[in-house]
Amino acid sequence: MTSVIKKQQRFTGKAKTVYATNEDDKLILHFRNDTSAFDGEKIEQLARKGMVNNYFNAFIMQQLEKAGIATHFEELISDEECVVKNLDMLPIECVVRNIAAGSLVKRLGVEEGIDLLPPTFEFFLKNDALHDPMINDSHIIAFNWATQAEIKQMKTLTYQVNDVLKKLFADAGMLLVDYKLEYGRYNGKLVLGDEFSPDGCRLWDAKSREKLDKDRFRQGLGGVVEAYEQVAQRLGIALPE
Ligand code: ADP
Ligand code: UDP
Repeated sequence: MTSVIKKQQRFTGKAKTVYATNEDDKLILHFRNDTSAFDGEKIEQLARKGMVNNYFNAFIMQQLEKAGIATHFEELISDEECVVKNLDMLPIECVVRNIAAGSLVKRLGVEEGIDLLPPTFEFFLKNDALHDPMINDSHIIAFNWATQAEIKQMKTLTYQVNDVLKKLFADAGMLLVDYKLEYGRYNGKLVLGDEFSPDGCRLWDAKSREKLDKDRFRQGLGGVVEAYEQVAQRLGIALPE
């Protein structure tokens, strides 16, 4: 059982609420049912989503820890909440893509579904008002968003996550198309923060290529949380009734 006590609300994002705790270096993340797309333009409440993503994220973070990747995850404390390390987040999103989809397809006019070999890596600035513009290493250095060493670590770690998760999903009959990760500083070290859930990645059924991620919400395909639960079930994640 945890000794961490929830204190005042620190921040409410589009999908999670962050709480301070009685320990300065710990936070509580509350995964809400709010589901947003297009930088917050489309927002809906989807029953069970907060709970599914909380369990999903816990499972993935634990798999990454087992593989030697430092994450902020500490423990689950309720169906929709977990304790994490309090990171000094970098305002950067790291995206690795194994298959062309989403903004890459629009930006480069390529066909969705093309295999990307080797997988691509992109940085985006975390800024909804500016629609998360794409940035490169020189912008990060010029604006002091991270150091050169941190840029190198973000790339190495994000590709390591790809090696671990591509296999994990492949073994469960799914393709990891792309995903977004965020990092923060903790005791001078870069640690994986935020979440890994079907809200922030693309997952396709390996045979039918059916979409099992937030594109179901973005594209109004329906069955959003049902798809997330199917992915969780295929990975062997036990969810409450
Ligand atoms: P968004 O900012 O995209 O609306 P969320 O609703 O998911 O996102 O809000 C969660 C916020 O908490 C994000 O700003 C994220 O960077 C931040 N965050 C995630 N993990 C940590 C952590 N371990 N320490 C500090 N901040 C974190
Ligand atoms: N992504 C995310 N948050 C963002 C932007 C992207 O989680 O603010 C994820 C998205 O779900 C996908 C990957 O990052 O898995 C690549 O997203 P893309 O650049 O294709 O943008 P999109 O068209 O999905 O907004």
